[in-house]
Amino acid sequence: MNSPEEFLRCPRCGGKTRVRVRLRTVLKDFPLFCPKCRYECVIDYERGKMTTVKTPDRGDPGQI
Ligand SMILES: [Zn+2]
Repeated sequence: MNSPEEFLRCPRCGGKTRVRVRLRTVLKDFPLFCPKCRYECVIDYERGKMTTVKTPDRGDPGQI
């Protein structure tokens, strides 16, 4: 049985962030911060899929 909750992963280092989402969680323009590599980006999250909206460091979202 799958856990109904999971931690969002950092698009940069792949580490777990402290943000927990559920299957039906929807995030829009959500600032995601990774405590591991101190990377912050803005993401959308819907139906189990995370999309990087904006990356302050690099301008190339999509490379996950
Ligand atoms: Zn990270």
